[in-house]
Amino acid sequence: FNEVPEGFPVPGKTTIYDASQTIDLDNADLQGGFLVKVLVLSIDPYMRGRMRHPEKKSYSPPFTIGEPLANFGVGVVLRSENPAVKPGDHLYGFYPFVQYTIQQNAQAFRVLDNKENLPWSAYIGVCGMPGETAYYAWKEYAAPKKGDVVFVTTAAGPVGATVVQLAKADGLKVIASAGSDEKVAFASSIGADVAFNYKTTPTRKVLEKEGPINIYWDNVGGETLEAALDNAEKGARFIECGMISNYNTQKPYGVTNLMKIVAQELHIHGFIVGSIRDKYVDEFYSKFVQRVASGEIKYKEHLVRGLENAGEAILDVQSGKNFGKCVVVVADE
Ligand code: NDP
Repeated sequence: FNEVPEGFPVPGKTTIYDASQTIDLDNADLQGGFLVKVLVLSIDPYMRGRMRHPEKKSYSPPFTIGEPLANFGVGVVLRSENPAVKPGDHLYGFYPFVQYTIQQNAQAFRVLDNKENLPWSAYIGVCGMPGETAYYAWKEYAAPKKGDVVFVTTAAGPVGATVVQLAKADGLKVIASAGSDEKVAFASSIGADVAFNYKTTPTRKVLEKEGPINIYWDNVGGETLEAALDNAEKGARFIECGMISNYNTQKPYGVTNLMKIVAQELHIHGFIVGSIRDKYVDEFYSKFVQRVASGEIKYKEHLVRGLENAGEAILDVQSGKNFGKCVVVVADE
């Protein structure tokens, strides 16, 4: 991490690729820990929020200038002095953005047995933090009832696409929005009853025709949230997952019709995935991952090869260029 961006992160400026440090894979002192080869790293929207000045408070810590970025990933153990992990184990957890890393705390990682034979990248997408986000918050806050209409934003991404499919599995009418015609076609293919490109069709128009809505899954905030508020049924549930339309601007959030919350007796549920994890994590790994492996739950991936391209990948996600879960493939096995 090189510099706090003002607007969108700039590859080569906000972040730089630094190949100056090396590690002796055979002889590096593990100090009781384990040496991991990083295979895949996740690029998530919230990483933009971590690119801030340290005095600004938020729910996740700021990145430190001069230090590697860090996020979820999967790596394979090459050598270990810790009895809890052995060479060949694949570990899901939080990694610095490097090719090889010595780690000490085995408890911080989940050993993936991958009986399902999924690609490792799936464990940082639909079977990782974004899939968990969709699964946990849907269970915790959606309270779906027969005949309900749900509106899901960023419907081709790992969170949105999973929500679309969970809502369909619960028998609801699903309205889905995304930022390109290809993404819209994908949203339809995974079950959305109404899918539209919000860049060419006003969200408000679609909701007026297809709503009112009983559940709103908000990944974008701003004028989309405003349109959802104006088209909410009495007692609707708003699952406030993200507000990406504001992550790269200094502008105010600009929602002008908040009185609808009172008038329509809305339930607004903001959440951070880690806070609702404990309740559902076991069933996520025992049941949901199976549904992905069986092909019932579908997903798309946007693979970017090479750690040196991580900066571009971050910009792809902030600007909507990614089609599916954005993954940096650092190395093959
Ligand atoms: P995605 O892979 O879907 O990537 C983000 C997408 O946001 C882009 O592809 C783009 O899709 C859309 N987007 C970008 N800019 C805008 C804009 N100005 N207006 C509208 N849409 C925009 O991301 P994820 O599925 O990983 O995450 C989706 C949301 O969930 C994010 O808001 C994220 O912050 C949030 N999140 C929240 C968590 C929590 O604990 N609360 C945990 C994980 C994620 P398109 O082309 O369709 O516009």
